[in-house]
Amino acid sequence: SAAREEDVCSHVKVVVRVRPESQKEKEGNFSKVVHVVDQHILVFDPKEEEVGFFHRKKLVHRDINKRVKKDLKFVFDAVFAESSSQVEVFEHTTKSVLDGFLNGYNCTVLAYGATGAGKTHTMLGSPEDPGVMYLTMMALYNCMDQIKEDKICNVAVSYLEVYNEQIRDLLVNSGPLAVREDTQKGVVVQGLTLHQPKSAEEILQMLDYGNKNRTQHPTDVNASSSRSHAVFQSKKQHIPYRNSKLTRLLKDSLGGNCRTIMIAAVSPSSMFYDDTYNTLKYANRAKDI
Ligand code: ADP
Repeated sequence: SAAREEDVCSHVKVVVRVRPESQKEKEGNFSKVVHVVDQHILVFDPKEEEVGFFHRKKLVHRDINKRVKKDLKFVFDAVFAESSSQVEVFEHTTKSVLDGFLNGYNCTVLAYGATGAGKTHTMLGSPEDPGVMYLTMMALYNCMDQIKEDKICNVAVSYLEVYNEQIRDLLVNSGPLAVREDTQKGVVVQGLTLHQPKSAEEILQMLDYGNKNRTQHPTDVNASSSRSHAVFQSKKQHIPYRNSKLTRLLKDSLGGNCRTIMIAAVSPSSMFYDDTYNTLKYANRAKDI
């Protein structure tokens, strides 16, 4: 029923975006392992090939050594196929929380997925094809403009990264910052700078500036090797998920007064079979938070 759906979906909205195959995936000996059924359903490692004229023949020639397909059906708040646009993703994700945001809810957008799965593309995009952050900021300023007669809105922005369990301010030069819990303010990053942009344009400049300060420039095409190195290092540290800095920072985002959207990014290709499987399982569990 509608009421139940509201209960289930109001807390964490989980969506999955499947990116198009890369050149390497297309050219290599890979198959597609994600089949988008409709706007809510996808099947991972589907069993049936396109059932068509040669169906019987296929069965006869089936390779008995091939492993059994998982054929797992997943249901999410939204599923975006390879052909989906940035605007479509925006319209079915953050657009719906702007109202809540202007009414005092903590709103969080998380991009989750393996390296190369499409997180940066979805969140930042490019100047020619701006992502969810840009589209959300534009819409936010439009909303504020419409209600400026009734409400005074003050915007303050901070931008940080968590990297190897260290928190750094991306809008100024800073050393590692500490997190502590304040009884009134909740989780606080000590010394994190707040900035007051006067327009959406200014926010975007900050975003741009901050991105250039990231340990791995998201626009740096050659960063993937160092990124995986970073992941390798994190694994050795064995940071328990519950105690990690990121988890602490997100504590308020997953509490009561919140609207959280998780965008899980996956490749459609068998080249990333395990990554995609793990991301989908994780995203599926996040629905229950
Ligand atoms: P991540 O941030 O998860 O490591 P990226 O966003 O950098 O991954 O994506 C890896 C590559 O795939 C980039 O070259 C990016 O431009 C491309 N890509 C990702 N998602 C899409 C998409 N939806 N449409 C077109 N290209 C995409």
